[in-house]
Amino acid sequence: MDGKADLHIHTTFSDGAYSPRDVLQLAGRAGLTTISITDHDHVGAIDEAIAIGRDCGIHVIPGVELSASVGDVDIHILGYFLDHHNERLLEYLSHLRAERFKRAERIVGKLHNLNIPLPFNAVLEQAGDGSIGRPHIAHALVEHGLTQSYYEAFLKYIGTGKPAYEKKFQVSPREAIALISGTGGLSFIAHPANMVDDTLLWGLIDAGVDGIEVVHPAHSVERVNYYRGIASEHFLLMSGGSDFHGGKKNGTEVLGMYSIPESQVAMMRRRLR
Ligand code: AMP
Ligand code: FE
Ligand code: FE
Ligand code: ZN
Repeated sequence: MDGKADLHIHTTFSDGAYSPRDVLQLAGRAGLTTISITDHDHVGAIDEAIAIGRDCGIHVIPGVELSASVGDVDIHILGYFLDHHNERLLEYLSHLRAERFKRAERIVGKLHNLNIPLPFNAVLEQAGDGSIGRPHIAHALVEHGLTQSYYEAFLKYIGTGKPAYEKKFQVSPREAIALISGTGGLSFIAHPANMVDDTLLWGLIDAGVDGIEVVHPAHSVERVNYYRGIASEHFLLMSGGSDFHGGKKNGTEVLGMYSIPESQVAMMRRRLR
């Protein structure tokens, strides 16, 4: 029987609610046979996840989710099968996280200028040891009663172009792809329906991605079929998953609800050889 793989999962090492151990437990319950942990700019969960996965019979593929930008568009790129001990990669990721930290400070500064007195410590508490992102700021705002909801935080303050918005450290898609392939990994355009129009999509294919994340909660059935078609046409690999954050985003993500068959993971492995 073909198993099920969920290749887009976040943990407490970025903006997910669950530790690697909890994620593996949930994955087991959901009947997943392979998962990939894809924290934003962090590979800290992977060794532990692989070890726990070995004990409970779940295959863990090393992964990461990088952000790249083209103009004002934020493009997410997933890396799989990379060497997560590679020194250059670790150095680069820790640089990206340092930049995220400074950006969070700038955002909180802008909030203060808008008379929103969010203590920076509240953001740090949300982030723990993980890489800091806007989701942590949104949750801190809600916790301190400064916005009604997580979404309102983006809508009013920290969403793209809003008054407390700050750009992330700018990385081009080519740089992100090169970083992943330089450590033996495969790169995938993450959830293209979110922010990538067709022109951008062709550009990313041109830039050398290995595949497209076809299955994602933000993708309608039509979108899934559309990206499948494009992947076949360009001999690209297909990935998918739940983009699981443990209900931290909207409470509706369920591990195991969005997956791809193991046969597609096998195609990735074949491409690696
Ligand atoms: P960051 O990497 O710090 O820029 O944060 C990006 C993350 O914030 C995305 O992956 C989304 O989870 C979340 N996000 C961005 N824009 C919005 C929005 N308008 N509403 C809700 N969540 C958002
Ligand atoms: Fe996230
Ligand atoms: Fe993403
Ligand atoms: Zn994600």
